[in-house]
Amino acid sequence: MRLAIIGAGFAGMYAALSSARLRDIHGVSPDDLEIALIAPEPTLVVRPRLYEPRPETLTAPLLDVLKAIDVDYIQGSAETINTDARTVQITTPKGPRKTLSYDRLVVATGSRLFRPNIPGLAEHGFSVDSLDDAIALDKHLHSLADRPAINGRDTVVVAGGGFTGIEAATELPARLREILGKDAKTRVIIVDRNSAIAPDMGEGPRPVIEDALRKLGVETRLGAGVAALDGSGITLADGKRIEAETVIWAAGIRAAPLTQQIPAERDNFGRLLVDRDLRVPGVAGVFATGDAARAACDDQGNYALMSCQHATRMGAFAGNNAVAELLGVPTRPYHQKAYVTCLDLGEAGALFTRGWERKVEMVGDLAKKTKQEINTVWIYPPRAERAAALASANPERVTNL
Ligand SMILES: Cc1cc2nc3c(=O)[nH]c(=O)nc-3n(C[C@H](O)[C@H](O)[C@H](O)COP(=O)(O)OP(=O)(O)OC[C@H]3O[C@@H](n4cnc5c(N)ncnc54)[C@H](O)[C@@H]3O)c2cc1C
Repeated sequence: MRLAIIGAGFAGMYAALSSARLRDIHGVSPDDLEIALIAPEPTLVVRPRLYEPRPETLTAPLLDVLKAIDVDYIQGSAETINTDARTVQITTPKGPRKTLSYDRLVVATGSRLFRPNIPGLAEHGFSVDSLDDAIALDKHLHSLADRPAINGRDTVVVAGGGFTGIEAATELPARLREILGKDAKTRVIIVDRNSAIAPDMGEGPRPVIEDALRKLGVETRLGAGVAALDGSGITLADGKRIEAETVIWAAGIRAAPLTQQIPAERDNFGRLLVDRDLRVPGVAGVFATGDAARAACDDQGNYALMSCQHATRMGAFAGNNAVAELLGVPTRPYHQKAYVTCLDLGEAGALFTRGWERKVEMVGDLAKKTKQEINTVWIYPPRAERAAALASANPERVTNL
């Protein structure tokens, strides 16, 4: 029997750990139940940190931990899924394509930035969405120091005033000062179509964010859409222009395209609708998880968000349930009651809220310490020691905040 997991993000990593854990609990040998993880690189890209400086350091190795729990790593990108034949076709960096058959499949392919068809965006827009994008942005920011300090050299526009846009923007004043010197007249401007900053956060936490933006001198242009980009700035929908040699696009993500190959229903973000066991209804043997899936978290109408916090726990349930089906033991319905947000606000600290109503629990330095602990400890893979790694993936305990 074989379980194949596609994707080595937070969801894929925890699917691998929890499936190996259940196999181990039932004393089944890896020869009888093979678990294979398919991903382009055997590393976890720590996506929630990609707004930070030195993005090239923001990965964590996975090979040793996978080896310790007897999960096979297959290097490559899943190109085609045939859900009738139960096969995945994989393109490998070197050598011919591989075809892998599966008995159960976990789709954990995550998400990627949505780039609308705005003139100039593809050529001139930067982002903090993927490792390559974040590295390209960092290189570009460093290259500004070699250019004349005229026009928009010292101005960065961040398009999108949601979580990612705010974290990127609030980190920038310090980042730019480090590169351009403390006397540079840097400007950071968040542009968003919505009339309020952080539209998903609601009224409670918003004053904390607004206060942080004021302290850092980050400007906002709200109710303003970006109509076009060129090498030297942006044009807004009302025709106004902002000179800026750096534009960071942070206005929305979508599930990775592989979900389109599963013949099932998807939401507006391209996420596969899944049942409480994270199975894709009507497609035999297929589970979806993390940013690739839309799952109910409880019976109160809350649904998992495209977040690391949800992806990690959903991954643990999906891996567990896929193996449970293969072993003929009961599955565990996914549930995630606790929900917190921890938003980095650069040198203005951070914001920590609890619950779906986003009650502010911590601000400033206290929240910042929690954010640093989340970002440097909690979201990293467990150490490559079999018992500890397997124990870390009990679905009931993963991200139980
Ligand atoms: C700048 C930024 C800040 C963020 N901040 C936060 C935060 O503060 N809190 C929070 O909870 N979340 C945050 N997030 C969101 C969080 O990073 C995502 O929700 C999380 O990464 C989703 O995990 P995932 O495993 O589902 O997908 P991903 O992390 O996207 O991983 C997907 C994996 O699938 C692989 N893959 C994709 N397609 C294929 C294929 N065809 N074949 C093989 N492999 C494939 C990818 O290479 C990758 O390994 C942030 C994201 C960004 C970009």
